[in-house]
Amino acid sequence: MKVLIILYSGGQAAQEQPKLLGTTENKLGMYDWLKKLGHEVIVTDDKEGPGSEFQKHIVDAEILITTPFHPGYLTADLMDKAKKLKLCVTAGVGSDHIDLNAANKHKITVAEVSGSNVVSVAEQVLMTMLVLVRNYTPAHEQIVAHKWNVAQVARDAYDLEGKVVGTIGCGRIGYRVLQRLEPFNCKELLWFDYTDLPADAAKAIKATRVATLDELYARCDVITVNCPLHESTRGMVNADAIKKMKKGVWIVNTARGAICDRMAIADGLKSGHIAGYGGDVWDVQPAPADHPWRDMRGPQGNGNAMTAHYSGTTLDAQERYAAGTKEIVDNYLNGKPQNPANVIVADGQYATHAYGQRK
Ligand code: NAD
Repeated sequence: MKVLIILYSGGQAAQEQPKLLGTTENKLGMYDWLKKLGHEVIVTDDKEGPGSEFQKHIVDAEILITTPFHPGYLTADLMDKAKKLKLCVTAGVGSDHIDLNAANKHKITVAEVSGSNVVSVAEQVLMTMLVLVRNYTPAHEQIVAHKWNVAQVARDAYDLEGKVVGTIGCGRIGYRVLQRLEPFNCKELLWFDYTDLPADAAKAIKATRVATLDELYARCDVITVNCPLHESTRGMVNADAIKKMKKGVWIVNTARGAICDRMAIADGLKSGHIAGYGGDVWDVQPAPADHPWRDMRGPQGNGNAMTAHYSGTTLDAQERYAAGTKEIVDNYLNGKPQNPANVIVADGQYATHAYGQRK
């Protein structure tokens, strides 16, 4: 069978660092294994447009493996052409680059390596909050520019202690963010999710569930987005939502770029209504050179804490999601059941509760 693997190219870094498993060079450590089993394996980073390797090979691939870091966007149109496709595996967490409703129509299974990088992302969320709230980036840029002006950076620097911090989505990542925030003595920790936490998990964190997103928007100094991208979260953080937030809000989004409206964020930062926006996810990846989030700034030239999509692809995370991807493929090849926690859609329906409230 044909296995199509879409990964980012790691170039020299991947040659020097073999632990960069999620690259076309190191092939998730799966290439030799699959070849020995007699399968045809295509590994490529060429994923855009009708002439791409992705579109060329998807027509007769049985298994597609992609990562959220360099997503092969499997649209409904492409899925119609993928007559042999049975399994899509996300090497990582977050399968929104696959049209899940179309996968259900064609009874294609979509699975991801749940939990594989949630600690990696939760740590990044904490770091990004601190970078924004403490106005770290301009303070650092000043130093490498051989300058010294304490007042210029202190004028926008605050402590996380005493602030109200809330997460939209309290699944694996959102929950870990709240756990990690506890020692910072925030004024309040809030979470909004349509899914409740198990009673013991809710008790273990000193955080309050709010009933509505509007309440979270109105009360928070810092908002972090930790829910998947699906029909009802696409563009959720738009101009209307931002109006409901406090002036000077900091927003951290490591979930998916398209949950936040790109111009509403850039405009909100420019006007000062948003004091800072940071994260690593973009509404299309790789982000185009002219994406407004690359060089958006607040009135003092600060407030931008964007990076390329890397929070969930630390070397530790890569080891976990490469192993998990191999396990999912091995299960499929040997007719073994998948770990239910990894299954997003199967047999024509959503197996997870996390991609929107459905009947
Ligand atoms: P999870 O499934 O454990 O939790 C997601 C939670 O979001 C669920 O509890 C779900 O009920 C909730 N949710 C869904 N829609 C919601 C809505 N409209 N409002 C409030 N809550 C909602 O997933 P997770 O492991 O915590 O990951 C969350 C997302 O983070 C992933 O889907 C992915 O998009 C993103 N992610 C990013 C990276 C990265 O490298 N930046 C890595 C891993 C995951």
